[in-house]
This record gives sequence, structure tokens and C-alpha cells, in this order.
Amino acid sequence: MLKIKIENLFKVYNSRSGRISALEDINLDIQQKEFITLVGPSGCGKSTLLKIIGALIRPSRGTLLYDGKPLLQPTRDVGIVFQEPVLLPWRSALDNVLLPAEILGLDIEESRPRAMDLLKLVGLKGFEASYPRELSGGMQQRVALSRALIHNPSVLLMDEPFAALDAMTREELGFELLRIWHAHKKTVVFVTHNIMEAILLADRVVAMSPRPGRIAKILKIDLPRPRTLNMEFTPEFKVYSDEIRSVIYHSGTVVA
Ligand code: ADP
Repeated sequence: MLKIKIENLFKVYNSRSGRISALEDINLDIQQKEFITLVGPSGCGKSTLLKIIGALIRPSRGTLLYDGKPLLQPTRDVGIVFQEPVLLPWRSALDNVLLPAEILGLDIEESRPRAMDLLKLVGLKGFEASYPRELSGGMQQRVALSRALIHNPSVLLMDEPFAALDAMTREELGFELLRIWHAHKKTVVFVTHNIMEAILLADRVVAMSPRPGRIAKILKIDLPRPRTLNMEFTPEFKVYSDEIRSVIYHSGTVVA
């Protein structure tokens, strides 16, 4: 079933150095419970597109539909995780997870057991009372993930959520995210500039090219689930990564 529809979408920023065309003619249908990754070099408009999908910013032109209806402002149906966990340092892990519940006016006594369950789900049982400074970067990002899920949104938007973490933590969290996604079946849109990560997580990879940001290619990833790290060494995986590299290199940009 179609969850999100993006049609003929454009975004122009008016900056001091002039007009920047960040996105041009974006068309994308995202199915319910689909895992989509947006991949491309820095500056190709991935964050802009994700913010538009979250209705945090408005497109210059085009439409964004959720369940067939235009979405013009942020909705409770969405949870967002950014690159930095942005936790409040004076609140415990549990109280950080509960913050959106307080802001949304949800019943805190009902939300508390849910927050405890979510912290357990992300492997932080026993750390509920810890403060952010007592947690590693990976643990803080796990708290941020629990916080994004506290109001049980059906859509999870993630903007390079593991980019600041070391490679091993990043891989570990990627697989945990897949486990959570599988168990709770959210629609996920995940931004990354890492091609391997984009393939390993996704049902479909949306490869973007820069200046202006356009969708260069949409690739369906037919690797079986659950995914494993070994899949990176299979011929199928190489075909996907070569294809994504070719569309990104073709646009004249080198990706690290
Ligand atoms: P990515 O996430 O792929 O790195 P962004 O969406 O952050 O790309 O940026 C796309 C383009 O839009 C870049 O050229 C960037 O400089 C520009 N841009 C992003 N945000 C703004 C803004 N608030 N004002 C002006 N230009 C912006």
C-alpha cells in the first residue's frame, strides 16, 4: 500500500550567494513498511529531501502526500533521528525518551513502560537512569532512536544517523535497526552517503546526483533478509554497488 507520494517536487533556497536549486523534479512513491535509503554525495539534496518528507521545510513546488492526503506540517505519524543524538544533558536516558511524549501531551504513566521497553529493544536495559555524558556515542544514538519511536509513528526518517560513529558501532547499529524495523514494521527513509550501508539496509536504494539534486536511479535490492555482512562480498552486491557508483560518478562527482 502506498504510504508516501512525492510528485514533481522542486526546492530552491534563496541564500546570500544567490538562488540554489537543491532539488529538481523529484518523483518517488514509498510503500508502507518499505525501507528506502537515499544515497549520494554531499550536497546532492538528501537532507533537504528528508526534511521535506518530514514536512519540516516546504518544497518550492510539487506535492507531498501521506496516505493520499497532502502533508503541509509536521505530523505525529513521523519520528526523526538526526546525525547528532541531541539529548538533553540534564535528563536521564529514560527522561530523554519521554520528552516527545511530554511535548505531545501523551499520558506519561502509559508512556513510561513503553519508553522502558524501547530502551530494552535498543539494548539499553539497565541504562535507563544514566545521563547522556555517561553513555558512548552509539548508546546515545540508541536513546535518540527510542525517543523517535516513543509516540509509535508509522514513518521513521533518519538523516545519516550513524555517520558520526566508528565503523564497527555503525555496522552493529545498522543491523539492530533492521531487527527493530522488522519487528515493528515502520516505513523507513534513511539518508546516507555510504553506498555499502545504503545497499545492506534497503528494499530500494534511491541514488541521487548533485547540482541540482535529482534522482539518478532507483534500485530494487533483491538480497534475502535477514541481511548479513557477508552479503557485501557476493556478486549481486557488487552489481548493485557498481551500478550506484556508475550513476554517481557519471554525474561528475567523486564519492569517498
Ligand atoms: P546533502 O544532505 O545531500 O548533503 P543538502 O540537502 O544538505 O545536501 O543540501 C543541498 C544543497 O542545498 C547544497 O548545495 C546546500 O548548500 C544547499 N542548502 C541546504 N540547506 C540550505 C539552506 N538552508 N540555505 C541555503 N542553501 C542550502
